[in-house]
Amino acid sequence: MSNEQRVAIVTGAARGIGAAVARQLAEDGFAVAAIDLDETSCAGVVNEIEANGGRALAVGADVSDEVSAEKAVTRIAETLGTPVVLVNNAGITRDNMLYKMSVTDWDAVISVHLRGSFLMSRAVQGYMSTSAWGRIINLSSVSALGNRGQANYSAAKAGIQGLTKTLAIELGRFGVTVNAVAPGFIETEMTAATAERIGMSFEDLKAAAAKEIPVQRVGQPADIANTVSFFARDESSFVSGQVIYVAGGPTG
Ligand code: NAD
Repeated sequence: MSNEQRVAIVTGAARGIGAAVARQLAEDGFAVAAIDLDETSCAGVVNEIEANGGRALAVGADVSDEVSAEKAVTRIAETLGTPVVLVNNAGITRDNMLYKMSVTDWDAVISVHLRGSFLMSRAVQGYMSTSAWGRIINLSSVSALGNRGQANYSAAKAGIQGLTKTLAIELGRFGVTVNAVAPGFIETEMTAATAERIGMSFEDLKAAAAKEIPVQRVGQPADIANTVSFFARDESSFVSGQVIYVAGGPTG
């Protein structure tokens, strides 16, 4: 690649893991496009990156919508530059036991995680192959291995692992690696919402989770950002089609 600053796109970047990834990639030297449903919700992370001397852009888009995803990528390419890193992080949960799971909740979760990762990857792949360099990093989960009450989420996160391996095979010849991070319990609004749903305080849920984790703590968004950063490096060009479980112990 030329000396032009590389551009990374992070979806679901307004908060939680996505915001930590955006901050880390900016620290690593990338210009960062922070996508979330509402553009204004990305202002915090964008301002922080700019205050630290980086370049960033807030983009409002729904990754599960074909037109919205493509428009977002075009705008990023025109405003920040050619996108060569994509982190498919946007996500939602709609947990329920199978017998109570609505078709709407099934479709919503599959759409954001799986369709969204497909649409965003398809939208950026041309830029990456033309640059002969690219990194797609997908967010899977330990739930891909099965988790009670998460048939939709677990199917989506297992699907993301298949997508990751296939895109690694298809895009490798263009200098593009495709990998996935599969987090365990990470302290974010997503896990706080789980605590609320099951009627536990977040502190109690975190303490209970930490007891079951070999390193005896729950994960932080920075733990995931660190792994994404590893995949995005030049030196990681021989690592592709892999899923790294970042869960404080052996998983998978
Ligand atoms: P979060 O709920 O805190 O943040 C997710 C972000 O995605 C939100 O800002 C939300 O607005 C955005 N988003 C949702 N739908 C979107 C859409 N259609 N288009 C664009 N943006 C959208 O969640 P988090 O805990 O930071 O999780 C981030 C990712 O990591 C998700 O893919 C999640 O499934 C995965 N993950 C999280 C955990 C955990 O313990 N927190 C564990 C494993 C995997």
